[in-house]
Amino acid sequence: MTVNTAIKGLDQWGLAPSKMLLISGPCSVESENQIAQTAAELAKHSVQILRGGIWKPRTRPGSFMGLGDHALPWLVAAAKNNHLKSAVEVANAKHVEAALQAGVDILWIGARSTVSPFVVQEIADALQGVAIPVMIKNPINPDLELWLGAIERINHAGIQKIAAIHRGFSSYDKSIYRNVPNWNIPIELKRLIPNIPIICDPSHICGSLDLIQHVSQKALDLNFDGLMIESHFDPQNALSDKDQQLSPSALGALVNELIIRTNTSNNQAFIDKLKSLRDDIDKIDFDILELVAARNKIISEIGLYKKENNITIFKPERWTEIVETRIKYGKEIHLSDELIMDTIKAIHREAIAIQTKVMNDGK
Ligand code: PEP
Ligand code: MN
Repeated sequence: MTVNTAIKGLDQWGLAPSKMLLISGPCSVESENQIAQTAAELAKHSVQILRGGIWKPRTRPGSFMGLGDHALPWLVAAAKNNHLKSAVEVANAKHVEAALQAGVDILWIGARSTVSPFVVQEIADALQGVAIPVMIKNPINPDLELWLGAIERINHAGIQKIAAIHRGFSSYDKSIYRNVPNWNIPIELKRLIPNIPIICDPSHICGSLDLIQHVSQKALDLNFDGLMIESHFDPQNALSDKDQQLSPSALGALVNELIIRTNTSNNQAFIDKLKSLRDDIDKIDFDILELVAARNKIISEIGLYKKENNITIFKPERWTEIVETRIKYGKEIHLSDELIMDTIKAIHREAIAIQTKVMNDGK
């Protein structure tokens, strides 16, 4: 892992101290008045960074592509007039140059750019020698390596104020989300780069308003450092992403409802009780591992036996039987189908790998 550990925390970004960083603003800057009015409203609701798209990466041609360079000064002025920082998405060297020239405070790289090492490298090259904070959205596909790679490229250009934005991942499967959260991916990113701030973008995860509160709360409960939520002074008439934008007052109401929990406590009774429960969990986890190891031993014996009798490793009927009986039993003891499936799939994958090795030993 070559990500520089010198990535700085949000406390180094020149923002007023707060329990949670709130970034908001329209999907796209649509007019001077729209961004000015939206910013003035947002400043009343503890927003610190004003976002606004100037160049919009649209999936299909013909959609609103953003107003381009001439709208940049409107975003910067709307932010300044309301004591906010401004943030814009950049997708190439020209965008970087224009944003820096206009005095934008913070840049972000969108999901469609993070997927492309060429695009990210072009942005990184344009940022050499510049000390601007950069937020990097996850790639549209659930590929942690691409996300890490983009962070590394920007970091290697000398940028130390880097945050990751989790905006969910494309999925072909039908889902209640526009982009499925796959929370394990940002959690793994945080494990690999513990000092990187992570911001959740519930707007692009949800795609509509009904789940935004729930996803925002979940992100905070997972110890995310902030939220980026799209807002518009007239959401119904927004030119892009109209179904997911909140009015500034609705954003204020949402933020008021959020519970911000801390991740440490000074209460000794709480600390002791938590420690004792965690000790119990540790013991159970090690028991689980021992059981899996014992299972693997038998799997290996079966592999040998199959080899001697010239029998295939995989038998669909046996696998179907395993799935059905484990799901049925899991239900009885209140385990979700998802947990059972994930677990038995992992165990079965390992079993096939073990037997493949046994079969091919000595060949
Ligand atoms: C956006 O923030 O408006 C945007 C285009 O997001 P994403 O890159 O997450 O699709
Ligand atoms: Mn958007």
